[in-house]
Amino acid sequence: MDCLFCKIAMGDIPAKIVYQDDQLVAFEDINPQAPHHKIIIPRRHIATLNEISNKEDSHLAGNMIHVAVKLAKQFNLDQDGYRLVWNCNSNGGQTVFHIHAHLLGGRQMIWPPG
Ligand code: 5GP
Ligand code: ZN
Repeated sequence: MDCLFCKIAMGDIPAKIVYQDDQLVAFEDINPQAPHHKIIIPRRHIATLNEISNKEDSHLAGNMIHVAVKLAKQFNLDQDGYRLVWNCNSNGGQTVFHIHAHLLGGRQMIWPPG
């Protein structure tokens, strides 16, 4: 599988890891869009959110949210607030086809998003 985030999860491509367990990995985004920009991924390859189709995948996605909240607290983003973003396919702005959540914080976000 020629997938960048699978390679990061396996340690084949280096990344600044901020969290890992048997299911999930979180790391610093290489091109941060905010003072804090972490990426949370499952170790298992799932290409897009459209492939979240069963209870097991939903549980995995829930665990990704749980890790994002833990990281938000660890980096003191929880009180001021933060944004959790999941991009899907072309209109969603997805560029890496292995599902991931962006945890963005440390500045005021604007709405609507670009
Ligand atoms: P997407 O646009 O698919 O929602 O987000 C992909 C994210 O992965 C982007 O924010 C991009 O900066 C980040 N990214 C792309 N390549 C790498 C890489 O090699 N290492 C890390 N740490 N992040 C990457
Ligand atoms: Zn992958």
